[in-house]
Amino acid sequence: MDGAAIRYHSYERERFNKMSDPQLIRCSACGATNRVPLEKIGQGLRPVCGRCKTALALENKPVTVTDANFAAEVECSPLPVLLDMWAPWCGPCKMVAPVVEELAAEMAGRVRVGKLNVDENPATAARFCVQSIPTLLLLKGGRELDRIVGVQSKAAILQRLERVAA
Ligand SMILES: [Zn+2]
Repeated sequence: MDGAAIRYHSYERERFNKMSDPQLIRCSACGATNRVPLEKIGQGLRPVCGRCKTALALENKPVTVTDANFAAEVECSPLPVLLDMWAPWCGPCKMVAPVVEELAAEMAGRVRVGKLNVDENPATAARFCVQSIPTLLLLKGGRELDRIVGVQSKAAILQRLERVAA
């Protein structure tokens, strides 16, 4: 990690009012690791690499969460996590899946989106007493802040998500 400084197009003059955990993003072009303050991303600003000025790619796909990686991917995440508890045989889960994909792209840098197969990962499903699927857990530091059970509209999910991502 070389800690290359990050620069933004339009807000060099802005002050940092609050500091949250920066996200570390590796530049796909030159390999430099950039520290990106999350509140800047939340304001819709696109970070570029401090070394080569290439636009940095934010994580925009759901990550696969398992019993084994729950601590690393969810508990240690500096971002709140939307965790889709699903199973391949579940019809309503298939209805929610595209919405979850869209939210991963739209909330990139603000909310981490994960998917957990409850059949393959019963320990995490039991830990959060998930009794029906789909269940969307909203977690921060591994702690449950909210949950959405059953199929809901994207707008409804987004509204609940904005509350925890503030
Ligand atoms: Zn670069």
